[in-house]
Amino acid sequence: MLSAVDAHGEAVVLAGPQAKALATRLKEIPHFCPQCESPVIVKAGEINIPHFAHVSSTSCDSFSEPESPRHLAGKSDLFQWITKTAEAQMEARLPDQSQRPDILTGRIAVEYQCSSIPASLFKERTDKYTAKNLTPFWIYGGKAVERKGTYIKLSPFQRLFLRYNAQLGFYFISYCPDRKMFTIFEHIMPLTPSLCTASCRFAKVEDMTFPPSIPFKAAAPFPLQAFFDEKRRWIDQSLYFQQGRSHPFFKAVYASRRNPYLLPEFVGLPVPSGMSIRSHPIEWQFYLLAEQHKRPVEDIIRSRIKAGHLKEQPLPLAPDVTPEAAAAEYMALINELGISNATADSSTMFHKLQKEEQFVKVFGEKLTSRLMF
Ligand SMILES: [Zn+2]
Repeated sequence: MLSAVDAHGEAVVLAGPQAKALATRLKEIPHFCPQCESPVIVKAGEINIPHFAHVSSTSCDSFSEPESPRHLAGKSDLFQWITKTAEAQMEARLPDQSQRPDILTGRIAVEYQCSSIPASLFKERTDKYTAKNLTPFWIYGGKAVERKGTYIKLSPFQRLFLRYNAQLGFYFISYCPDRKMFTIFEHIMPLTPSLCTASCRFAKVEDMTFPPSIPFKAAAPFPLQAFFDEKRRWIDQSLYFQQGRSHPFFKAVYASRRNPYLLPEFVGLPVPSGMSIRSHPIEWQFYLLAEQHKRPVEDIIRSRIKAGHLKEQPLPLAPDVTPEAAAAEYMALINELGISNATADSSTMFHKLQKEEQFVKVFGEKLTSRLMF
C-alpha cells in the first residue's frame, strides 16, 4: 500500500519523485492503516518502491498483501500521472467500505490489475462501481500481449479489459511501469479463437492526457482473405490436435455428410460482436444456419453455450457485446449480402478456393465496412 495515516489522522501518500526522501523521513514516525487502523511501517528496500506494510500479518480485508513490485510501481506512476491535472485519492475508501479502488478521481475508479483474477470477480467489481455511479477504469498491468507475426494473441483474462468505442472499435489499454509507457491496441478483431488483428500505439506517460484522449486513426482494412486462410488453418489444427470427431462442431458436420473444408464461404464470417464468443465463427454460424428454421437464433447460440459446445467470452466493460448480438448481426449480414443457399458446399478444395476469392472480391468491402468503426 502507498497510503497511510499518521497519529493525527493525516493522510500520507508515498508517490512521486520525493517518495524515497519522504519514506526515510517517515520511518521513525508511527503510521496506521486507513482501513483497519492497525500499525503499518515504511518499507524502502532495493526491489520495491517505498511503501507501507502492516506490522503484523493478521489479515486486513482490503489490502491483499504483499502487492507485487510492479503493482506498487504502476500505481505510483498512475497516481502522479493523474494528479498532474486532476484531484485524486490514492487507495481511496468508498463510504460503504465495500471496495477500495487503487485511485479514485472524480467519479472514475482506477484499477491497475497485474495479476490474473477470475472473470466473475472482474465483473462483480465492475458492476459494484457502476451501481455506485462510478466509472471503473481498468488498466492492464500483466505480462506483455503475445504477438504472432502481425497478429496478437489475447488471453481470456486480457480480453476482460476490452472496451468498445465507435472510433477505436475494440481497444485495450495496458501500462508498463518499467518503460513508463502505455500500450494501446485498437481496432481489435478476432481472426480465430486465439488470434486477433489490431493496430498498436505506444504513449509515454508524460505525453498522455487524463482522462486519456486517443487521437483518431483510420483502421486498416480487415484482411478478409487472411481470415479465410486462418479459418482453413484452424480446421487443420482442430482436426489434428483435438480428435475432430469428438468435437461437437466436426461431429455435426460429418453427421450431415459434409466436409468442414468445403462448407460455403459465408459459414464463418467475422461480425463485431463475435468477440463475445471464444469459438471459431464457423462453429456457431454452422449451428445457426442448421437450426434457424426451428427456433430463434438467440436461443440456438445460448443453448449451445449452455451445452458446452461454444465458449462465451465475458466482456464486463462492453456489456452490449453478447453472443445473442453476434447471432443477430450474422443473420442480418447474410441477409444483406443476399445469401440464401446455406448448403452450397464446394465440390473440391480448388473450387472452394476459387469461391473464396470471388467472395472477397464481391463482398469484401461491404463486409469489412460493417466491421470498421
Ligand atoms: Zn489494514
